[in-house]
Amino acid sequence: MHKQREKELMKRAVELGNSGNIKVVSELFSLLNIDSGQVRRLAVSALGKLAGFANSADIVPALQTKMLDSHPQVRQYAVKALSAYGADAETALHDLNDILENHAEKDYNKRDAQMAIEQINEAIKIRNNQSVQLCQKCNKEVTAEEYSKSQKTFQRTFCDKCFDEVYLKRRNFDTNVELNKNIKAKDGTLVQSAGERIITDFLSSNSIAFRYDERVRIIEGYSVRPDFYLPEFDIYIEYWGMDTIDYKIGMLKKQKLYQQEGKKLISLYYYDKDNLVEILKLKLSRYIGL
Ligand SMILES: [Zn+2]
Repeated sequence: MHKQREKELMKRAVELGNSGNIKVVSELFSLLNIDSGQVRRLAVSALGKLAGFANSADIVPALQTKMLDSHPQVRQYAVKALSAYGADAETALHDLNDILENHAEKDYNKRDAQMAIEQINEAIKIRNNQSVQLCQKCNKEVTAEEYSKSQKTFQRTFCDKCFDEVYLKRRNFDTNVELNKNIKAKDGTLVQSAGERIITDFLSSNSIAFRYDERVRIIEGYSVRPDFYLPEFDIYIEYWGMDTIDYKIGMLKKQKLYQQEGKKLISLYYYDKDNLVEILKLKLSRYIGL
């Protein structure tokens, strides 16, 4: 596929997902079959965002077929999107179990499938009045839909009213972060500092898959936003830059959390900047062969 066309379709998929408009579903369905893993991944993600608005009877089966996509990241996003449909995704439980049992499947997809199965089962229990979940902000009992939607977005449980409040707060924070991303790495990733660019260039030139600045759930009810996450190795990298340290909430608290959970965290600091590649290589070599 032509690069420019691919970029346009990727942008379109994101727009459609953020529109909150159920009339866009058929356009998203057509994007599910485009010859670009990136476009399919974003279309799948957009269908997840429409959970709660759109008709799940149409969308759940479409997402199920995408769990068989040749591109592992498309499968991953399909799993995540399905969990947003909660009790309505009951028919997908069987396929999610298949992912768990498939030896050829990526570990991160198995982990996400396990999480999706738990969330879908919990939503079914809430719907059948066999379980109760309370909003973590106002303590009100939530519906199965509220549970699934807030778990998908925040990995926490909120009623719709508190969901909207938290969402607005987060969006303002995210907008500021996005505005700060104006340094371009060699692979085109937009990052926030020279140090992050060096790390990005190192990872991409060594063909190490990474996710940059994406929220990751590391423990029940708590998600973090590491600078880099290496899904193949389950390693987190935080760059504590002087220019970014202000907005980072409690560096020590966060480092402790990774430690408590037994996560592999590599911390790099702004004063390492002149030798950043050497230090990163050294710290990475404890976990992977370079
Ligand atoms: Zn609430």
